[in-house]
Amino acid sequence: MNLLNTHFTAPYNSAPFSQIKDEHFLPAFKIAIEDAKKEIDAIADSKQKPTFENTIEALEFSGQQLDRISSIFFNLNSAETNDVIQNIAQEVSPLLSEFSNDITLNENLFNRVKAVYDQKESLNLNVEQNTLLEKKYKSFSRNGANLPEDKKQKLRAIDKELSQLKLKFGENVLAETNNFEMHILSEDELKGLPDGELEAAKQLAESKDKDGWLFTLDHPSYIPFMTYASNRALRKQMAIASGKKAFKGDKFDNQQNVLKIAKLRFERAQLLGYKTHAHFVLEERMAKTPEKVDEFLNEMLSKAKPAATKEFTELQEYATEKDRIHQLEKWDSAYYAEKLKQKMFDLDDEKLKPYFKLENVIDGAFAIAEKLYGLHFEEITNIDKYHEEVLTYKVTHENDELVSIFYADFFPRAGKRNGAWMTSYKPQSIQKGENDRPHISIVCNFTKPTKSKPSLLTFNEVTTLFHEFGHALHGMLANTTYPSLSGTSVFWDFVELPSQVLENWCYEKEALALFAKHYQTGEVIPMDLVQKIKDSAAFHEGMQTLRQLSFGLLDMGWHGIDPTEITDVKSHELKTFGGTQLFPDVLENCMSTSFSHIFQGGYSSGYYSYKWAEVLDADAFEFFQEKGIFDKEVATRFKENVLSKGGIEDPMVLYKRFRGQEPRPDALLRRAGLIEK
Ligand SMILES: [Zn+2]
Repeated sequence: MNLLNTHFTAPYNSAPFSQIKDEHFLPAFKIAIEDAKKEIDAIADSKQKPTFENTIEALEFSGQQLDRISSIFFNLNSAETNDVIQNIAQEVSPLLSEFSNDITLNENLFNRVKAVYDQKESLNLNVEQNTLLEKKYKSFSRNGANLPEDKKQKLRAIDKELSQLKLKFGENVLAETNNFEMHILSEDELKGLPDGELEAAKQLAESKDKDGWLFTLDHPSYIPFMTYASNRALRKQMAIASGKKAFKGDKFDNQQNVLKIAKLRFERAQLLGYKTHAHFVLEERMAKTPEKVDEFLNEMLSKAKPAATKEFTELQEYATEKDRIHQLEKWDSAYYAEKLKQKMFDLDDEKLKPYFKLENVIDGAFAIAEKLYGLHFEEITNIDKYHEEVLTYKVTHENDELVSIFYADFFPRAGKRNGAWMTSYKPQSIQKGENDRPHISIVCNFTKPTKSKPSLLTFNEVTTLFHEFGHALHGMLANTTYPSLSGTSVFWDFVELPSQVLENWCYEKEALALFAKHYQTGEVIPMDLVQKIKDSAAFHEGMQTLRQLSFGLLDMGWHGIDPTEITDVKSHELKTFGGTQLFPDVLENCMSTSFSHIFQGGYSSGYYSYKWAEVLDADAFEFFQEKGIFDKEVATRFKENVLSKGGIEDPMVLYKRFRGQEPRPDALLRRAGLIEK
């Protein structure tokens, strides 16, 4: 018997990592898929009259073993992978997508789901059951289950073409990124670049058997160059090369792909009965409609524009004074902003790091969770870990009840992907009267300890830890019946609220006093340093906001309208950007042709959600500030209405129950210094 296909007997039903071998996965997946198929067939082919329990709930609780194996496997593939695991991932991914397609295309199953859906008014369902029914039904209908056969065929054809176009779009952007390199032979031309960047550029040149230094359009090379290189002509060369990606009229050009993707998405939405692609997407978002998103973006624009214009003027004056630059161009923006920021704040990570020893920051996050939500974290050693560096905790409530198991994995190593994320090894749910608690994990890539120094975090790493810990609390405190509605399974533009809101505690004196202590002297971080952190965080917020809004408006400009008449990508883009542009336009550049987020990735009609989430977190945090950042009553409202509720109800309803009103942008505008405090 394959261990992965059995019920785990380790404490807390935790994953028995030490006994799982890589070669267990593939056969275990195959068995679990077969079992899940049998469960689905039993539901679809049942002779009983369809009911909520025998159809919707049965569907929800099917395939649990497959889900458990998948989460263990894919979490390992991100945090502790190797060639074997990567090969299994290649092999198993098509099996999993075939399995989920089989479900969506199963007509008998859909007929039973629809039969339940059609009588939902008379079923006396509670809020959560109702949401589950809606969600299951939509997972079929949004994929065309209600369409007549010819239109179903049409939909499949569109989906196929779209997936090829998206792939092609991405390949072109990648090829264009790789096609460019800037080769520098004289160090004189590289003034301003920090030693570390020079070294990286030299190594890159060496790796290609070249002398001198090489710079590319990859972010780790491009961003530092634009920020530090004082040679304006070279910055211009880099910026134009970057802006021209897939916009040169050659075989890598994406203009036709942009037009085709926008038009096919529109056609697909119309086929399914939606006005535009954005209407289709936003149906399952907190914002709900394109009109609401447009209103939001334009309101933010009108509020941010005066501050942005003022910042731009100041930056222009600074550049004139410093280097006699009379017209700031796009390639000057990062460079002079960095110089001005240094001049104004003189803040560098080395000054802050001694106050942020990793162990202290972890204790601080735990102490805050204890004060707010009555959670208690105890390190445990009686469960397996997938790597010796992983820390394991038992999280309990004041009354000793188990809340969650918590894994924390902080340092980079080969086999771990970049970045930081929260995930789970086991979801929370209530089945047969039993509240099955979740197993939550956060994974980061923080500064490692050395022989002489403990791990001292940059401030950015501190906020990252709080961010992921905020997601983790959302997972840990989950208290719903159905796993697919539990924890962080919420609409996309709501999921960053718990994470972003917790970052706010990193800037508060009362919270910092708990953990920001010098690792050698124990002295609490001086408040003037904290004030500098706050002020520098708001530096150029107006211009940053305008930039984000321009992407959001461009996204809606392609997806919130009927694009059939558009023929010229660049002129459509300029029209959509509208009032967000402070720098002169660069004729030979285009944003859309390399805007992978919306044309290749999953962000179409979703770019606005970055700003949207900031509005939510600032508005929510202001409520805490009004009553005191450790106020139990506000914390309890947040826990009961947001953190424990997952996706069982519309996020706007949940939010209003917590806050007493809809979110308003004023708190964010104040925090960002865009309006008076
Ligand atoms: Zn996040």
